[in-house]
Amino acid sequence: MARVLVVITPAEGHVNPSLGLIKQLVDRGEEVDYVCSEEFGTRIQQTGANLITYPFSVDAFIHNPVLKPAEYKHHYQFVNMIVKGLIEPIIPKVMKAIENKVYDYLIYDYLMGWGGKIIAERLGIPAVCTVCSFAFVEPLGSDQGGDDHDIKVRALYDDTMKVVHQLAEEFQVAVPAIDELDSHSHSLKVVYTSRYFQPQAEKLDDSYIFAGPSIVPRKDAPSFPFDQLRALYPQVVYISLGTILNRDLEFYKLCFEAFRDLPVQFVLSSGQYAEMELLADGIPDNFMIKPYIPQLEMLQRVDAFITHGGMNSASEALYYNVPMVLVPMTSDQPLVANRVQELGAGIAVNKNELTPAILKAALVEVLNQAIYKQQAHVIGESLRQAGGYTYAADAIMSRFSTIKK
Ligand code: UDP
Repeated sequence: MARVLVVITPAEGHVNPSLGLIKQLVDRGEEVDYVCSEEFGTRIQQTGANLITYPFSVDAFIHNPVLKPAEYKHHYQFVNMIVKGLIEPIIPKVMKAIENKVYDYLIYDYLMGWGGKIIAERLGIPAVCTVCSFAFVEPLGSDQGGDDHDIKVRALYDDTMKVVHQLAEEFQVAVPAIDELDSHSHSLKVVYTSRYFQPQAEKLDDSYIFAGPSIVPRKDAPSFPFDQLRALYPQVVYISLGTILNRDLEFYKLCFEAFRDLPVQFVLSSGQYAEMELLADGIPDNFMIKPYIPQLEMLQRVDAFITHGGMNSASEALYYNVPMVLVPMTSDQPLVANRVQELGAGIAVNKNELTPAILKAALVEVLNQAIYKQQAHVIGESLRQAGGYTYAADAIMSRFSTIKK
């Protein structure tokens, strides 16, 4: 039995994939403290972990300008987002919440970046980084050009490192180089995907464990009238932009226009904050709209998925052999969308140039050509065979767990 500290970014797409692993560790006798925001308390406690919360406002998260979705053209934009959007607002609160506690090892989320190292260094314990995206073979943003001598890049560097220096002083840890802020070079990395789906997997050493997605039933998911899904139309398509970028009324309007004449039942997850009442007059008869959908259940019943290409959403779809139309916007979504398209399980469209006709043509192609579903099945099989949370727990415990007398 070991005492385990878990620190995961308080966002649905980060907490969800951790749950299977954490339950597995608890079931095997590890004593787990899971530090997160209250919002995810119920599902964390269902794993048997001890929940420790810190004051955190989801609204502040959503409105933080640093976290505004952006296309990262330079690596420093990504690390600036990590440092100012996540490490600075969260790590001091985590440190306060666990004051005077003792642990044997840390599990932290890759988006916490150097924040994980701060905690591990302060507590003098080893760290495991869990990656609910692809492992970044190239640092995010680094392959798109951008001039290091550009004044904006230097300003970004200074802005980031100023905060890094302050945090290093506050927690009495070494100041890292800027490229180390998201590198996790000293941690074991558990990646929630398969070697097959991971781009350039051959370049990653054995500090990367590919466990596949962690799909566990979600007991707190709302109900849905699944018996009505095929009552009127022979095919069903699920649409979701995830949990963060889902207030996009323009996109929803575009979907209405593109799909109103198709003999397909559409189910749209609009999120809790989209002002759907503004669109009330234009909702076609073949759309069912809910603020939140039990996604795992839904994906087991649909013919295709229109998604923003969030890693969790895409992995969950592939796990259930569902082909996709991907509308990536930011972060790792373009990587995910490209990879799905490259392996033939879907079509990626450019959101900036999207028209109803383009979106409709992509969906019709994915629905009508069996090859997309077949390729989704190939990737899905690699994800199902990857070993899951059992394999991840084996890998972690064989390295770090201790038997206490
Ligand atoms: N999700 C869900 N119901 C919804 C919308 C989202 O269950 O109506 C879940 C989905 O299953 C996934 C997560 O929320 O696990 C979204 O994560 P993803 O990485 O796809 O996108 P993000 O929200 O981080 O942009």
